[in-house]
Amino acid sequence: MTERKTVCCYLGLGSNMGDPRANLEKAIELLNDTEGIEVTAVAPFYRTAPVGYTEQDYFINTVAEINTSLSPLQLLEKMQQIENKLGRVRVIRWGPRTVDLDLLLYGDEKIAGPDLEVPHPRMHQRAFVMVPLADLNPQLVIQGEQAADLARRLAGEQEIIRV
Ligand code: ATP
Ligand code: CA
Ligand code: CA
Repeated sequence: MTERKTVCCYLGLGSNMGDPRANLEKAIELLNDTEGIEVTAVAPFYRTAPVGYTEQDYFINTVAEINTSLSPLQLLEKMQQIENKLGRVRVIRWGPRTVDLDLLLYGDEKIAGPDLEVPHPRMHQRAFVMVPLADLNPQLVIQGEQAADLARRLAGEQEIIRV
C-alpha cells in the first residue's frame, strides 16, 4: 500500500458496563490493531457521574490520541465496528453499550454531515471529555477557549475523579 498522509485525531472513550476499565483497554488495543490507525497517547482514566439518565452506574472515561490514514467516515466505521464487537461480549438486551467511542477532533477539520459532526458538538460541555483531552493537549483551542481552561472550569462543575 502507498503511504498516505496521516491526521492526528482525538477519540473519546466511555464505559459503564461489566469491567469498564478492561473494556476501555480492549477498545484501545483494537483501535491500535486496526490498519490505518496508530494510537499515539492515552490519557489517564476518570470516574465520572452519569449525565442525563442518572439511574445507572458511574462511567469510566478517557481520551485517546491517534494518527490515522483513514478518512473521517472510514474512521467512524472502524470505531463502530469496535463498539459492536465489544458490545456483543455482554448479554444484557437493550442495556447500555459496553463501550462508546466518539470522534472528538479530526485534525482541524470541520465536518457537518448526517452521520458525522466534528468537532463533536457537545465535547466542550463535558468534563469527562475535556479533562482527559486537556491532559493530552492542554493548548488545543475548543470553541475559542483553551482546553486546559475549559477542563478546569468543567471539573469544578461536574463530578470527575482520576482513577
Ligand atoms: P453523544 O454524541 O451525545 O455523546 P452518544 O455517544 O450516546 O451521544 P450514539 O448513540 O453513540 O450517541 O451515536 C449516535 C450517532 O451519532 C452515531 O450513529 C453517529 O453516526 C453519530 N455521530 C455524529 N457525530 C459523531 C461523532 N463525532 N462521533 C461519533 N458519532 C457521531
Ligand atoms: Ca458519547
Ligand atoms: Ca457515540
